[in-house]
Amino acid sequence: SYFSELGLAEPILRALSAKGYSDPTPIQRQAIPALMQGRDLLGIAQTGTGKTAAFSLPSLHRLSADPQPRPNAGCRMLVLSPTRELAAQIAENMRGYAKYLNLTIQCVFGGVPSGKQARALERGTDVLVATPGRLLDLIDSRALTLRHVEIFVLDEADQMMDLGFIHPLKRIAAMLPKQRQSLFFSATMPQAIADLGRQFIHEPVKVEV
Ligand code: AMP
Repeated sequence: SYFSELGLAEPILRALSAKGYSDPTPIQRQAIPALMQGRDLLGIAQTGTGKTAAFSLPSLHRLSADPQPRPNAGCRMLVLSPTRELAAQIAENMRGYAKYLNLTIQCVFGGVPSGKQARALERGTDVLVATPGRLLDLIDSRALTLRHVEIFVLDEADQMMDLGFIHPLKRIAAMLPKQRQSLFFSATMPQAIADLGRQFIHEPVKVEV
């Protein structure tokens, strides 16, 4: 099957052909139709499976289909990633997929001063990719609010747990609007991760690759 059969907006298809992608990977084929309909998703998938595009393409499609002003000091989509390297890679991929859309993608992570990140968020962003600690710092210093989040992605949940982010994650989850779409990805799904997932997602489509 081809990306063009999935109903994605034309500027997204154009970005995919510019990258030389024609066929969706198995996780993309399974996840994209359900995500375009607004369903929640529980994904068991490793890096390298095309997971980033699986959550990015339908999300960018939905955001662009319902244009909204960028919320001041806020975002419409939040992607949480355990490490700065992964966060930066997700943001870079998403910028490629959004190349022909009028959507902004920003990335924040620790280990660098937060002033520049806070200033860049003042006028808001459509998509924010973040590590949990820096995200909470920005919220605590009132540079960011999660009140406008429509789509929430928790990536690499098992790594998040291993890195001790369970508490930050629960704090973040408590600040998200109840009415939202949630996506939860993990490479493995032991009981503790499944229990964590249940706190974020509602009647999800399950995808395992
Ligand atoms: P990910 O699992 O999201 O880290 O993606 C793994 C790699 O596959 C990345 O370099 C992507 O750019 C690439 N990729 C993702 N989807 C496709 C696709 N449908 N066709 C070809 N390459 C892809």
